[in-house]
Amino acid sequence: MSEVIVVGGGPAGMMCAGIAASQGIRVTLVEQNEKLGKKLFITGKGRCNFTNACEIEDFFSNIVTNKRFLYSALYGFTNMDTIRFFNELGVKEKIERGNRVFPQSDHSSDIIKAMEHFLRKNQVQILLGAKVSKIVTDKGQIKGVELQDGSFLPADKVVLATGGVTYRQTGSTGDGFRFARELGHGVREATGALIPLASGDAFVKELQGLSLKNVNVTLYENGKKRAEEFGEMIFTHFGVSGPAILSLSSLMKDNKKTEIAIDFKPALDAEKLDKRIQRDFEKNSNREFKNSLSDLLPKKLIPIVIERSGIDGEKRVHQISREERLALVGLLKKFTVNIQGKADINLGIITSGGVDPKEIDPSTMESKIVKGLYFAGELIDVDALTGGFNLQIAFSTGYLAGINTAQEK
Ligand SMILES: Cc1cc2nc3c(=O)[nH]c(=O)nc-3n(C[C@H](O)[C@H](O)[C@H](O)COP(=O)(O)OP(=O)(O)OC[C@H]3O[C@@H](n4cnc5c(N)ncnc54)[C@H](O)[C@@H]3O)c2cc1C
Repeated sequence: MSEVIVVGGGPAGMMCAGIAASQGIRVTLVEQNEKLGKKLFITGKGRCNFTNACEIEDFFSNIVTNKRFLYSALYGFTNMDTIRFFNELGVKEKIERGNRVFPQSDHSSDIIKAMEHFLRKNQVQILLGAKVSKIVTDKGQIKGVELQDGSFLPADKVVLATGGVTYRQTGSTGDGFRFARELGHGVREATGALIPLASGDAFVKELQGLSLKNVNVTLYENGKKRAEEFGEMIFTHFGVSGPAILSLSSLMKDNKKTEIAIDFKPALDAEKLDKRIQRDFEKNSNREFKNSLSDLLPKKLIPIVIERSGIDGEKRVHQISREERLALVGLLKKFTVNIQGKADINLGIITSGGVDPKEIDPSTMESKIVKGLYFAGELIDVDALTGGFNLQIAFSTGYLAGINTAQEK
């Protein structure tokens, strides 16, 4: 009977280990942390957006890198299968904006408990606090793994589900990339995706903490529009973050002159916004300009907008010329922020880059280079936008690897 070792107790590794064991084979799950699913615990701000309930075809438009590689995995274990899987383990779901699926309880811990129950039910042996330091092979065939304490665990098959290289404090320290390289696999250099963006613009620091809802953010690269996102964003001490920014970051190419333009009033076109400002100005006609914008903009933004508008803040509103007012409209519709690049890689919600999918069989997740070596989850060079897509990728690739490790070849 085969002996399977799964390295990494995140969502991909847990799914893989439980499914493989449910096929009647002996499975050991090795996790370096003292508990399973440390990253899973912080997903969805602790609520765990564990999949997305969109049509499976729509799913693919949310995958940014190497979507074709995922066809077999995502059709083999779909988003609906994930919902059913957790329902059977006692977790009821709820569906929110954008088809995001969460546990009804709003607790990621319920997802982790369900997976732990699934592992116990299928008699997976779980080794916690055990760090794999080497994958041992002989003549291109898996033999087992070595642990950091020097012990050797024999296996016919090893699944690497060690995650990416962001939020390293959760355990995803990139060991899997090293193992894959040592075994002859190509690994595309990792960068952060779904990651905040850094800006050197001085006003950004002054706006720190300002959170904006219902804004439209457009990403420009070398002066050309690359993508736009509607939703929320926040200014931080080093730049910009929040859902709209994270999504744009995944589409951003490195080494380009980049800026974002924020439309503070996307519901109003320039003409309507101008009318709205004229009404505000009529109401405040004897006030100073700096005291006339409080109905229109958050307090923190007003001094920056005044400075960038070029209009003297002390000027009486009735003295503001039409040209000045139209320039103000333009600024509110296209407030630019220069972007220096992505924030520190550790702040990425996910890793872009990783093990080259061309060297992995997409219908089994087995390595095309080393017999008995499998991959699952984020360490593969695939990544998707926010909305539950990344966890679904972890579950689907984990499932496919799990089923296939159980096949005798
Ligand atoms: C803040 C945050 C919020 C997120 N929210 C969402 C969300 O709501 N929805 C969504 O779809 N995605 C979300 N994601 C992304 C999602 O968490 C990941 O895509 C997913 O966890 C990847 O699963 P994985 O099993 O491949 O890797 P991981 O979850 O990173 O698990 C890998 C495991 O391998 C272990 N490991 C590594 N090396 C070794 C070794 N040498 N020996 C033993 N064990 C090892 C690690 O300790 C770790 O436990 C979020 C990510 C972050 C950081």
